[in-house]
Amino acid sequence: MFNEELKLHKVIKLGMVGGGRGSQIGYIHRNASSRGGLFQLVAGAFDVDYERCKDFGKNIGVEESRCYPDYKELIKNEAGKEDGIDAIIIATPNRFHYEMSKAALEANLHVICEKPLCFSVEEAEELKKLADSKNKIFGVAYGYTGYQMIHEARTMIANGDLGDIRVVRMSFAHGYHNEEVEKHVEGLKWRVTPTEAGDTYIIGDCATHILCVLDAMIPGIKMTRLLCHRQSFIESRKPLEDNAFIIMDFNNGATGECWASAVNCGSVHGQKIRIVGSKASIEWWDEHPNQLLYEVQGKPKQILDRAMPYLHSEDEWVGNDRIGSGHPEGIFESWANMYESFAKAIYTKDTGDTKYAGVWYPSAEEGIEGTKFTAYSARSADNGSIWIEC
Ligand code: NAD
Repeated sequence: MFNEELKLHKVIKLGMVGGGRGSQIGYIHRNASSRGGLFQLVAGAFDVDYERCKDFGKNIGVEESRCYPDYKELIKNEAGKEDGIDAIIIATPNRFHYEMSKAALEANLHVICEKPLCFSVEEAEELKKLADSKNKIFGVAYGYTGYQMIHEARTMIANGDLGDIRVVRMSFAHGYHNEEVEKHVEGLKWRVTPTEAGDTYIIGDCATHILCVLDAMIPGIKMTRLLCHRQSFIESRKPLEDNAFIIMDFNNGATGECWASAVNCGSVHGQKIRIVGSKASIEWWDEHPNQLLYEVQGKPKQILDRAMPYLHSEDEWVGNDRIGSGHPEGIFESWANMYESFAKAIYTKDTGDTKYAGVWYPSAEEGIEGTKFTAYSARSADNGSIWIEC
């Protein structure tokens, strides 16, 4: 059971860039990080508009003197100060992730950055190197990876319950953008603008999530090559795609595919993963995140439920129930689990105590893999859907 009395070396002070009023993702960062009292948000450059930043900051309890016009002022005034921030959340559109993360690491801050991490693989690798050299954590906000049943799957796969992994089928295919909705919604315009979003739209925006779920289930899995076929059913989104099929091979001998779409009419979220082994398969779907389908060849299907005694509760994530069985946990609990793992990783870096040294969290490693996914998919598709070595 989740221990809300968990105390680490200190309450980790956070600054936040982006995530201001009306943003899609700011609230969940603030909510998830504040659960359990491990973090406290004390400063921010929440918005492109400074007046709105101050007004918003005041309304959510951040002192006006600690609301800044931009990330540079935030870092200058908050990093390295006695009562300054320890870590920064970067929740701006994609274009800024690299420069802001780099500046924060150079100022010796731990970083929690939104996905997709960078525009180029070189940039993402540079951030990882910098974080390592500064002995700082670099978390990437793949917030679905905190679901307990993903970690149950991880333990089952590690125990050999599926046998050798052969096939991975992934999708993140929703239907919300089947029309040109970005004409009327500010937060969607940048997503289909290459200078703001990068080389891809729906692959970076959504499909990178399910790739990271795969990584959480099978640690160390990496793509060895991929091939992408992408299209834009809404003309104005070109050269970015609103639909794509990617096939790939992995370093463990498995092969896989991913369908990324914003035009899958009727689908609510469509984020699914099926892993097929030589003995059995598992399937997880984020619309029913508390369950895991387990199919052993020649036996009846089983649906495993969160918080049941038959699960591997020795895995700290599986055992991390925030409420007993029968009550659905959801995206906020998943993110809070992720934030707890960020806190434990920061504790490990700051104190050298190894009590939580093995904690898994979506890190720069996963950020690099996500950046390979976007950059190489675009390169493949734009060159006639050729294979690209990863
Ligand atoms: P949004 O357009 O809804 O909000 C962006 C916010 O950032 C706004 O408050 C805006 O004023 C602010 N902002 C923009 N540029 C800024 C700058 N230079 N300095 C300070 N503030 C700035 O965007 P969003 O949907 O919240 O997405 C933000 C990021 O989060 C993107 O990288 C996106 O891919 C990611 N995201 C992740 C998830 C997830 O599940 N992890 C979900 C949605 C979005």
